[in-house]
Amino acid sequence: MKDNEHTARPIVEVRGLRKYFESTRGLLRKTVGTVKAVDDVSFTINEGETLALVGESGCGKTTTGRCMIRAVEPTDGKILYSLDNGNPVDITSLSKEAVRRLRRKIRLVFQDPYSSLNPRMTVFQIIAEPLIINKLIKGTGAARDRVAELLRMVRLDPSLMDRYPHAFSGGQRQRIAIARALAPNPRFLIADEPVSALDVSVQAQVLNLLKELQHKLEGLTYLFVAHNLSVVKYQSDRIAIMYVGKIVELAETEQLFTQPLHPYTEALIAAAPEPDPRVARTKKRVVLAGDVANPADPPSGCYFHPRCPYAREICRTTEPELRNLGTPEQPRSVACHFAHELSLQGIQ
Ligand code: SF4
Repeated sequence: MKDNEHTARPIVEVRGLRKYFESTRGLLRKTVGTVKAVDDVSFTINEGETLALVGESGCGKTTTGRCMIRAVEPTDGKILYSLDNGNPVDITSLSKEAVRRLRRKIRLVFQDPYSSLNPRMTVFQIIAEPLIINKLIKGTGAARDRVAELLRMVRLDPSLMDRYPHAFSGGQRQRIAIARALAPNPRFLIADEPVSALDVSVQAQVLNLLKELQHKLEGLTYLFVAHNLSVVKYQSDRIAIMYVGKIVELAETEQLFTQPLHPYTEALIAAAPEPDPRVARTKKRVVLAGDVANPADPPSGCYFHPRCPYAREICRTTEPELRNLGTPEQPRSVACHFAHELSLQGIQ
């Protein structure tokens, strides 16, 4: 869904989110430093929109997603969620019981469908569990009807609901996990690398299913966490690129791909597998030198400078701010001292 197709009503606003972990050493677990896994991250997701959070492993994207449902306790910041009546609540200040109730509306789909489904429960029990725990359904008959409806929605045969997860392939298990997530009629789904554990051949089917469900279930909003830009290219309205706990670029998907403004985004585009050979031929080769910076001991200045082919002296000493370089109609932000003058290569 494109931005102009849905009302720009924010469903979630993340403001200045921080999650710091203490790093410890030795038997006595002496604190030796702080890992800034998520460091001053802000973004908004509108109702019916898909925002993708993309970056290499350890960039803080998964921690950001988990902070949003308090599966991980944030260190600082606000997460404003718009209730059904339009009033915002700050998820970070809710009681445990209120968070538990909110998890009917905000659901998580995990990366690995092999470990996220309890092998001792049938598909019926797995999908019906959130309905029964939250007292959203009465009686086994009604629960079976709802589970059958959900299985049809994710394109699985309802007659298989009494089987156990081991009888299903990886792609089918992820469909079961999606059906479970959708059971209490959520408004917001956080999909954490939902296809990265699947064979390439079934990845597209699960991605298409998620897209189809968003069209069908009006207003369903996604936060899509991924390490690979090609996975989110056709999936998201906007993309936020994260590097060492911070957002370094946030733009509409098409704009980000055709005209990246941050050198890290350019490198991720170049590294993303491209199924279309015509596009693959025109891609510039940008090799990302070195490893991702250590969040416990990040470099001075711009965290990306040791890997950036465009780095200059100021990059080593001064951290660039995330600035809006877009228009009021099409805002986009980037954290690079030279974003206005670099001519970076994207793809069509
Ligand atoms: Fe590269 Fe400098 Fe921009 Fe950082 S600020 S991305 S080092 S050019």
